[in-house]
Amino acid sequence: ERLLTDLKSTIRSIPDYPRPGVIFRDITTLLGNARAFRRVVDKLVQPWPGSKIDKVAGIEARGFILGGAVAHQLSAGFVPIRKKGKLPHETVRIVYSLEYGVDEMEMHRDAIAPGDRVILVDDLIATGGTAGGAVQLLRKMGAEVVAAVFVIDLPELGGAQKLREMGVTVRTLIA
Ligand code: 5GP
Repeated sequence: ERLLTDLKSTIRSIPDYPRPGVIFRDITTLLGNARAFRRVVDKLVQPWPGSKIDKVAGIEARGFILGGAVAHQLSAGFVPIRKKGKLPHETVRIVYSLEYGVDEMEMHRDAIAPGDRVILVDDLIATGGTAGGAVQLLRKMGAEVVAAVFVIDLPELGGAQKLREMGVTVRTLIA
């Protein structure tokens, strides 16, 4: 599709970042492009025009930028999922696995009410460790995770598949 080819060309690839051998997909160039930013947000919200979404949860840090725009478009609230120690009020925390090792993320305990319909947003899914942890955290608070949406999927790392096996509807725009 023409649109997706155009979007892909707005993403910058940085070789050997943050480590030798890794190609980092830099979306700041997409975000800085007015047309591309609007199109990405429009595409991410497309399947849920009618059904009421209570909250959009965004994963620190690039998930905040996209998630804020998605929440506005859906007239939903926004919930930040942050690295540990950043949120000021009482939090719930989850340990999740990264490619090498583990990390922890958290959200405010009162950010989600049981039964809330939530869409999870991040810029990219690789192994799915981060998004999988976020889904667990949201479910722990009684959220119904309606979908998880990402601009970029790295399919060879299996994260989208892993989320689907957790029973989550996954939407990605560019592989
Ligand atoms: P995962 O937990 O799925 O292995 O990694 C996904 C997380 O790492 C996301 O929060 C994403 O923002 C970040 N990430 C990993 N690799 C890249 C990359 O190449 N580009 C960007 N923009 N984010 C990445």
